[in-house]
Amino acid sequence: SSAGAKSLTIGLIPADGIGREVIPAARQVLEALASDVMPARLSFVDLDAGFEYFQKHGVALPEQTLAALKGDCDGALFGAVSSPSHKVAGYSSPIVGLRKKMDLYANVRPVISGAAATASGEKRAIDMLIIRENTECLYIKEEELHEGPDGKYAVAKRRISEFASRRAGEMAFSMALQRDRMRQQVAASERTWKARPKVTIVHKSNVLSVTDGLWRETVRGVYAGNAEYREGVDVEEQLVDSMVYRMFREPEAFDVVVAPNMYGDIISDGAAALVGSLGLVPSANVGDSFVVGEPVHGSAPDIAGKNIANPIAAIRSAAMLLERTGYASAALAIYRAVDKVLEAGQIRTPDLGGKSTTSDVTEAVCRLL
Ligand code: ATP
Ligand code: MG
Repeated sequence: SSAGAKSLTIGLIPADGIGREVIPAARQVLEALASDVMPARLSFVDLDAGFEYFQKHGVALPEQTLAALKGDCDGALFGAVSSPSHKVAGYSSPIVGLRKKMDLYANVRPVISGAAATASGEKRAIDMLIIRENTECLYIKEEELHEGPDGKYAVAKRRISEFASRRAGEMAFSMALQRDRMRQQVAASERTWKARPKVTIVHKSNVLSVTDGLWRETVRGVYAGNAEYREGVDVEEQLVDSMVYRMFREPEAFDVVVAPNMYGDIISDGAAALVGSLGLVPSANVGDSFVVGEPVHGSAPDIAGKNIANPIAAIRSAAMLLERTGYASAALAIYRAVDKVLEAGQIRTPDLGGKSTTSDVTEAVCRLL
């Protein structure tokens, strides 16, 4: 490569089921990016992981894959893993392993209305980004079963730390500013969102005043301690129950939403229901120095191998990877190409009521790039 030419190396981990169809589709879209929006040279590394790989080799996330990610890659795309219906000895989810090993401490999920509609059939401009803290809360899985005088009872511990809350908060405010910068590239007449970025802090500190109190204080402290955030971003709070209510009543009122692990899990699945098919919803697992894009859907064994899986969730996940690695123009080009294909409505996979194939949708997006 010529001196000074930038390059971006992306690890591809299709894993199981439709992951093997939608990850190649995402790659095809990345390769179709024009050089004016994508100044870096892209290269790809094919990597193994998954349940099928585990069944053949006894390991779900091989060391070579981790070494390649840490050594050569700037980011990665992960397809999907089949979850075994019963507990399998020695098996643990490779995506969970990846999050731990690469310190991907936040799960970031955009919820965009595109051409889809809300449950009421009404079209709305939903454009929110949910940031879920991904390392602690109830997911530390410290549960105990006791025998009491009135029968059994069980207790679960919930960990909330200043450290994890602070970095989730930093991510929320910095992403609110980053989204704002990206939006400025779109003509004012086409903007469907409010002018000023906003972060909504989700908690339940009226009940859990110690744990959620610490979360709330810490995230608020991140905002209070940074002049750029205070000048550029508004902040508000929502108790998690009222968050759910408002999200279904007026989803267009939200921009960036930041939540502890368990609340984030629940509201992000609920939010996906606002925008239609699972096949549309992307996510990114994000740390300070690495990002793994991952469609929200699973391996979908019922439709695997038929070239009918919707590739849009994976394609949008690839765009999130670009956004996070500093290629916002390229990301924006992909988001807009996908929106155009959805709005035109002719080329849709069966999950959206169409008859097109995975390849048809992928090629339609590529043509617009
Ligand atoms: P897993 O165990 O991997 O989670 P699953 O059977 O739960 O598999 P999901 O992938 O979670 O399957 O999907 C749930 C439903 O949504 C399935 O009927 C699947 O076909 C459908 N679905 C999921 N992703 C897509 C997609 N990209 N395109 C079309 N349909 C999809
Ligand atoms: Mg599933």
